[in-house]
Amino acid sequence: MYEREKRALIDCALEMKACRLITLCGGNVCARLESGNIAVTPSGLDYETMNTDDIVVVTPEGQVVEGTRRPTSDLDAILYIFEQFPWVNATIHTHQPYATALGLVADEFPACLVSQIDALRGSVPVAPFTPSSDKGMGVLTVEHYNGSLAVILRGHGVMAFAPDLQQALYAAVYLEEAAQTYLAALATGRKVEPLDPELVKAELGDPDSWANYLQK
Ligand SMILES: [Zn+2]
Repeated sequence: MYEREKRALIDCALEMKACRLITLCGGNVCARLESGNIAVTPSGLDYETMNTDDIVVVTPEGQVVEGTRRPTSDLDAILYIFEQFPWVNATIHTHQPYATALGLVADEFPACLVSQIDALRGSVPVAPFTPSSDKGMGVLTVEHYNGSLAVILRGHGVMAFAPDLQQALYAAVYLEEAAQTYLAALATGRKVEPLDPELVKAELGDPDSWANYLQK
């Protein structure tokens, strides 16, 4: 069952690898199914050779209902995010280097780039360190969520989440692109000013806010 959805998880993981968000069999991809159960990538398996039979389906409580593989080791954290955010239908976890590097030196990635606003809705928070494969990773993601579609996990990686898989993938990929640009700007030694919140609002597509900004 859910062949198409399972294939989409594998294709997403391969795209994450192509975009250098993960290496070897790192990270994971999960999606809420129409049944309410969650499809998750298995632990420690190469995405290149993975097929739909390798995808594990679990109940919202984590009980395996389909598949023989061991679910991703971050399952507890991910199920917590799905439980707390009913609007989220897909999560992506990566160890993407530029966003993770930024998380080592900042408490927040302020909104300053168009792709960041378009794909993530604005500034991206950094959650404190928590051991991997621990529910705490999900708890801190929810706690530090500020409207962004991703949270940077200090000393670990990124958790991206969205109403659908493509949006979650875009959030993670554009976060990486934006973080690389931001770090390059910081490397000049000059201060990088975040965008005026009114401009962020305008970029988000509120037609009134752009007009209001110009009238100031
Ligand atoms: Zn991880």
